[in-house]
Amino acid sequence: MSRILIVEDSPTQATLLASLLEEAGHETVVAPDGEAALELVRTEPLDLVMSDIIMPGISGYEVCRRIKLELGKAGLPVVLLTGLSDPLDIVRGLESGADNYITKPYDPEHLVSRVNRVLANREIRRRTRRDDGVEIQFMGEAFVITAEKEQILDLLISSYEELVRTNRVLESRTTEAEQARKEAEAASKAKSEFLAMMSHELRTPLNAIGGYAQLIEDGVHGPITPEQRKSLTRIRANQEHLLTLINDVLNLARMEAGRVTVQPTDVPVDATLAGAVELIRPQLEAKKLRYEYQGGDHGVTVFADRERLLQIILNLLTNATKFTDEGGRITLGWRRENGTVYIEVKDSGIGIPADRLESIFEPFVQVEQRRAASREGVGLGLAISRELARAMNGELVAESTVGEGSVFTLTLPTSA
Ligand code: ADP
Repeated sequence: MSRILIVEDSPTQATLLASLLEEAGHETVVAPDGEAALELVRTEPLDLVMSDIIMPGISGYEVCRRIKLELGKAGLPVVLLTGLSDPLDIVRGLESGADNYITKPYDPEHLVSRVNRVLANREIRRRTRRDDGVEIQFMGEAFVITAEKEQILDLLISSYEELVRTNRVLESRTTEAEQARKEAEAASKAKSEFLAMMSHELRTPLNAIGGYAQLIEDGVHGPITPEQRKSLTRIRANQEHLLTLINDVLNLARMEAGRVTVQPTDVPVDATLAGAVELIRPQLEAKKLRYEYQGGDHGVTVFADRERLLQIILNLLTNATKFTDEGGRITLGWRRENGTVYIEVKDSGIGIPADRLESIFEPFVQVEQRRAASREGVGLGLAISRELARAMNGELVAESTVGEGSVFTLTLPTSA
């Protein structure tokens, strides 16, 4: 049985350490600070000192230095408890003459085995110390080390053990993280595949509903009343709306499952965009919106998938008509700068608050649910459009001023 002095200012920590060491068969004495510890070292028989480093009054390093040099007890082993927040901590400990250190938070088994090892090697510390120290430089600071070879070796081995331990923890965390990432990826893929499949399964009966409603409306099964015709029109409008939503979900799911492939070719910009207005002619007329196209050089081509490019433009133009009040203005224009073509869809509509400019590109995000609901859509158009733009090595961004209008800019690389 050995007598161990614990120097620790936190009573809880001191009690914890004492019970741990007592369980391992040692006797303990506790000092709440450095001065009290030095007094006990002077008057009591002790086999080992275990000291915290940061304490009110003198530090653990100083306690160690005084024990070893001033009190002439070079043979009394001192173990420092360190947070090891700084690699200098080890060298400082060595300089102060410490025999070993234990990092906090400590593993109880590890602490006891290290204390026992230091006690077993005690004889080494009893030898007289060399009085001419070795000066070393570490991380830009100079230290004079007077420790014995064995002591240094012991410390080095402890540091190595510490590293191996930390490395093991890191390794197992990396494996866990990798595993979690794989699981998340598989779950996300399963979700996308499920959505893609469901959307497909939903479209078949929905098309049937539309078809049969059409047959009745056409009077195939006999004459219908004006009231019945009204209801049939509503059935068909809702069926079409639902079909659009399902197509959007299907598109996004396919894209997330990595099933959408873009096949880029050289696409002439002007020839593709000049006629785009035809895609939204009915909406323009219904809301009496003015439309302008600002074309450019016929020779410019982008490296993109023509169908996907038109899908994005259609979505941006449709949004522009949806979110611009009657009598407003919509402009489609483009320009080339160096290797990039900037395609802009501009409107004089309601605009988008600055703090929503990014989130509207996320799936199912709409600035105003209620208002948007009356204008159809579920908030997937921009998410899909941005994904498509990126798949073609481009980007889609928005700028806007509430009450004045918005500009959506699609950038695409020009052909090589
Ligand atoms: P949806 O049009 O189906 O709601 P989108 O992803 O295309 O879905 O758009 C998401 C939201 O972004 C819209 O609900 C609307 O709030 C906002 N938004 C998109 N385009 C415009 C625009 N030109 N002007 C104002 N708000 C817009």
